[in-house]
Amino acid sequence: MNWHLHFLGTGAAHAVELGSSAAVIERDGRPSLLIDCGPDTLDRYQAAYGEPPRALYITHIHMDHVAGMERLFFRLWFDEALRGKTRLYLHAALLPWLQGRVADYPGVLAEGGVNYWEAFHLIPCSRGFWHDGVWFDVFPTRHHVQGTSYGLALGGSFVFTGDTRPVPEALALFGAGGEVIAHDCGLVGNPSHTGVDDVDREYGAAFRQRMVLYHYGSHADGLALEARGYRVARTGERVALPPPSPTRDGAG
Ligand SMILES: [Zn+2]
Repeated sequence: MNWHLHFLGTGAAHAVELGSSAAVIERDGRPSLLIDCGPDTLDRYQAAYGEPPRALYITHIHMDHVAGMERLFFRLWFDEALRGKTRLYLHAALLPWLQGRVADYPGVLAEGGVNYWEAFHLIPCSRGFWHDGVWFDVFPTRHHVQGTSYGLALGGSFVFTGDTRPVPEALALFGAGGEVIAHDCGLVGNPSHTGVDDVDREYGAAFRQRMVLYHYGSHADGLALEARGYRVARTGERVALPPPSPTRDGAG
């Protein structure tokens, strides 16, 4: 079975031309799990696969990662074949924030009669979750208030950090098995995001050589990151992943 990480967007919040950072885990060329749903993500997903996502994971509740969730509600609710079936995985600690920013608008439909979450199959998680027969680990990252952002990992296959400052403590646990490491990285770091100097300083070569950097500020910044010796994800690119190691449940 072939596994790929398909980057629908690779940009920082202001880098509209690169698309909002989001990616799809593909198995044998078929979409398995969408990571994040920004303002342009659904259009990019529909263009790539011809249908809305059947499963998604949300890393955190900044608008460039959840602004597509209202549209997705309408798309799913008004299609009886899809209504209530799309799995939405997120860390349980994020639920109040997603509720407040997206789901709590009064009268999700003007005509009434439906609650936001009835369009989805919501699956809150903490350590991780099962999806498509494999176990995905979820881990805390460093992005704004503690406990409001979580990365995703599939043992032996990939780590996707989501927006974050460097998280060497997480990669020591979830990125030490040969995984491809998709890491937030712009040209210059800030209190919210990783910069290339941070990557140089915080990670050993064994991690850096497996990194694919995304969430950067412009095409020019991407070229500059490459000039520093890093692999940089392009919008629309499919990055081949190693197959996952035998399924585990995060207990050991
Ligand atoms: Zn963010």
